Amino acid sequence: MSQYVFGVDIGGTSVKLGLFDVKGILLDKWEIPTRTQDSGSLILPDIAESIRNKITEKQIDTELIAGVGVGAPGPIDSAGVVHKAVNLGWDTFSIKVTLEELLQMPVMAGNDANVAALGEMWKGGGQGSNDLILVTLGTGVGGGLIVGGKVLTGSAGAGGEIGHIHVEDNETESCNCGNKGCLEQYASATGITRLANRKLKESDKDSILRDGEVSAKTVFDAVKEKDELAMEVAEEFGKYLGNALAVIAGVVNPDAIVIGGGVSKAGEVLMDYIKPYYEKNVFHGSRDVKFSLATLGNDAGIYGAAKLVLDI
Ligand SMILES: [Zn+2]
Repeated sequence: MSQYVFGVDIGGTSVKLGLFDVKGILLDKWEIPTRTQDSGSLILPDIAESIRNKITEKQIDTELIAGVGVGAPGPIDSAGVVHKAVNLGWDTFSIKVTLEELLQMPVMAGNDANVAALGEMWKGGGQGSNDLILVTLGTGVGGGLIVGGKVLTGSAGAGGEIGHIHVEDNETESCNCGNKGCLEQYASATGITRLANRKLKESDKDSILRDGEVSAKTVFDAVKEKDELAMEVAEEFGKYLGNALAVIAGVVNPDAIVIGGGVSKAGEVLMDYIKPYYEKNVFHGSRDVKFSLATLGNDAGIYGAAKLVLDI
């Protein structure tokens, strides 16, 4: 009987690792730097070495380890093959096969945002849910969909790319992906800042935002002060995101929608702007959904990666 599982979350600058028991109790967590040189060829050997060191340190019998789950930024299909991860320097290869050869134990891999959704469902803001939408509002907009308890990976690992859903025909600036009018351009931290700067230019209303730095944080701080212009920005943000979530819900019929990422630190006030649009426009069969904030923060990835292995 397995007792332990490792969860690994590979980021552009550091790799987070967690040792869990199979019930999902985090026993230890640590980080190593992500060495992206040489087309990222050192990343998996570094991870293997770090895990081997931990096994020795904790004197764990390898027979008691269920395996290692890995989340990484990029499209990763259900066979554990990554299809180009630009941030890591990776081209197309099997993370699963490579790491299994290095460690001689079962490995599963998935896209980091999808894996984080699994983590939030298992031990975070989506506990008890089986059909969940996770949307992470950070520098970009990430997302993960869980359908029937399983991550929706898609054919090439690009399932759940909520940030690049087209929501605006009249956008003139390009998104990082090259398209115009993606959700990310309005609902990410960068997007909210952009909306605020546009609004400040168009309007001659007084606003706290005219006095200092404009960021997603200062916008929602100003909303809490009942700043009218900031509330208009929040309304626009809520309209784009609430409506997009209503569209996704039309496909997924979720029981939970979890909002995470840096912007979610603004708290429950976000829901005041997202929910009205969601509830107004969603099909009635999906109206009764539980909205919550993500609770695992930066640990969602290691939790979800560990769960990926336990779900085999
Ligand atoms: Zn895009």
